[in-house]
Amino acid sequence: MVPGIGHRRRGLPGDRADVDRAIGVREAVYRLVTARRLGEEYADDALDVLNGAARKPPAAPQLTASGRWTEATPDEALSTVARQAVELLSGPDVPLLKECGNPECTRIYIDRSRGMRRQWCGMESCGNKIKAAAYRARKKSAHTAAAQ
Ligand SMILES: [Zn+2]
Repeated sequence: MVPGIGHRRRGLPGDRADVDRAIGVREAVYRLVTARRLGEEYADDALDVLNGAARKPPAAPQLTASGRWTEATPDEALSTVARQAVELLSGPDVPLLKECGNPECTRIYIDRSRGMRRQWCGMESCGNKIKAAAYRARKKSAHTAAAQ
């Protein structure tokens, strides 16, 4: 995500079409990242969605007394995200891209850990959940074995 990005549209929340376009860009980025991770060809329709969003003007960050603040229309926000995806997928971090080891999670992260041994998008979101489930499974099998 893009930290410090606000939403601007005359005080109104984004409409359904904005949400659908955002989902389209998100899914295109996911497909492109997945293709890149697996060494597959990019799908043309995913490239079209990403590049179409990236071609529009991005959000302009502003410096304020309290730090960086960025207001953006939905198109500017999507352009900013799409441009960051273009930078990521054409940059040096591609070999570090991984998908979370939780089968129910599709988050992608850049693994900068020593030895690239990171397995989860985050310990709080997925790592602890998987470890707790593994612990319960071990405890249950030990209990079952003891009962036999
Ligand atoms: Zn995860």
